[in-house]
Amino acid sequence: MFVADAHCDTLYQIAINGKAPGRCVVTPQRLAAGGVGLQTFALFAGREGPKGTPYADGLAMLASASWLNAPMLTDDLPEKPPQTPMGIFSCEGGEMLEGALERLTEFQVAARLRMIALTWNFENEIGHPAAEGPKGGLKPFGRKLLAAMDRYGILPDTSHLNEAGFWEVCERAALPPIASHSDCRWLCDVPRNLRKEQVKAIVDRGGFIGVNFYSKFLKSDGPATLDDVVRHIDALCELGAQHVIGFGSDFDGIELWPEGLGDPSGFPTLLDALRKRGYSEGILEGLAGMNLWNLLKRAEREAKIK
Ligand SMILES: [Zn+2]
Repeated sequence: MFVADAHCDTLYQIAINGKAPGRCVVTPQRLAAGGVGLQTFALFAGREGPKGTPYADGLAMLASASWLNAPMLTDDLPEKPPQTPMGIFSCEGGEMLEGALERLTEFQVAARLRMIALTWNFENEIGHPAAEGPKGGLKPFGRKLLAAMDRYGILPDTSHLNEAGFWEVCERAALPPIASHSDCRWLCDVPRNLRKEQVKAIVDRGGFIGVNFYSKFLKSDGPATLDDVVRHIDALCELGAQHVIGFGSDFDGIELWPEGLGDPSGFPTLLDALRKRGYSEGILEGLAGMNLWNLLKRAEREAKIK
């Protein structure tokens, strides 16, 4: 079964923390063991937010992708999902663009970004982070950026964005909103998780939600287990989200995870648990990878510039 993952921080570990690629959680071997055909690698700009060197960090992470030993898809996606591990790029923290659309063009030519998380945990030129709550929606550059992202076919990633920003993205973006690595707020009340209304809005627009494996987003008290991941997936499906959900593991960005799900080789165990729970093969195929794949293909088709 084709597995796709919408978020990991492996390039940050390699380029910024100086970790050897073989010592990262996400490796081509583990991706292959987990059946992962498509792994999204984030260019993470949040180390010090806009006050740091997010643009330079982004370039360093992009350069470090060549050490991964996994082919990166920077052209149109193939017709069928890859059978062996391949990567795509995303951006986590729009401050990487330093408030300039020229930077977007530059990264688009070099990396073909598929999704941009508009903020990380700091306020930036685009908007406000989830942790800040209702501090207003997008800023003027955020609005310009959304329009440019639509032209390029880049999905607006609202994981880390505040709620006012989320609703403005829903209103303004032609492409559907996604949350690449967030869970259910009504099961675990942290600002990084989604409220029911947000999930419904993503379902209505045909977006995407990647279930995050971070223990603290799955369960507020004590370590989370595989059952907690299933619990969040059940809750999303109860809201009709079975065709818009998938995985956003957050591997190499989290320090606590459910036992058995600490690296990409754990995906088959999770899929087996869902199978036992009664999910049909068709729903599982979507959830495992095809929901994300189909949306990425749609974004590509709707792009005006490539
Ligand atoms: Zn994140």
